[in-house]
Amino acid sequence: MAETAATETRPRVMVLFAHPDDAEFLCAGTVARLARDGYRLQYVLATSGDKGSDDPNATPERLIETRQAEQRAAARVLGVEEVTFLEHRDGEVEVNIPFRRELALVIRQGRPDVVMTFDPWQRYQIHPDHRAVGQTALDAVAAARDRMYYPDQLVGDLTEHRVHNVYFFATDHPNFYVDITTTIETKIEALLTHVSQIRGREISDFIRARARQAGLEIGVEYAEAFHYLPMMRPPDLRRHPNW
Ligand SMILES: [Zn+2]
Repeated sequence: MAETAATETRPRVMVLFAHPDDAEFLCAGTVARLARDGYRLQYVLATSGDKGSDDPNATPERLIETRQAEQRAAARVLGVEEVTFLEHRDGEVEVNIPFRRELALVIRQGRPDVVMTFDPWQRYQIHPDHRAVGQTALDAVAAARDRMYYPDQLVGDLTEHRVHNVYFFATDHPNFYVDITTTIETKIEALLTHVSQIRGREISDFIRARARQAGLEIGVEYAEAFHYLPMMRPPDLRRHPNW
């Protein structure tokens, strides 16, 4: 029998991001560690990256197909069990009530203990989708826990849901680092599945250099940086026995 969010007993982590490959660049070393350590991972993508090409022959339809397949392949490499595509149009994600409502439903259905997303307060973030997803994901975390928000969603087994902790990636105020020394190669392998985006470029040196920089902060070879926002505890990833 397939496990549903209601019968699942493992701690759950939902990673909310904008485009295929965002999570691989920003938090996949951590994702691989969590999957390896028995967490259940779900990816939720606002878009399918339908503008992510400068090939004159590319079409949005073909890009969606290609990039969803690449994202699923990356998820398999990392041990992410579920990938949800919301299929908003690339570059046009907005902070608004319908999107907040949609993400609140996703959270109430997936019932994550931990949410990871973009830091909505990162300065000088150029991509509008990155800003919009971080802001709306946090707003949806706040809405999902209160039954007075969108009560029409709460039918059958679906109830309000309280996320315990939020971890922001792409932050310029990191206060929490995860040692990814044992998963840096898995992160790179997952990134390389995004063939349409990497296009043969040598990215592993760049990824290692960035992870090495973060690693200096906690005295390990490679790390990823987050801003940790406590909502409620436990569980708290900082108390993970291996970290
Ligand atoms: Zn992106």
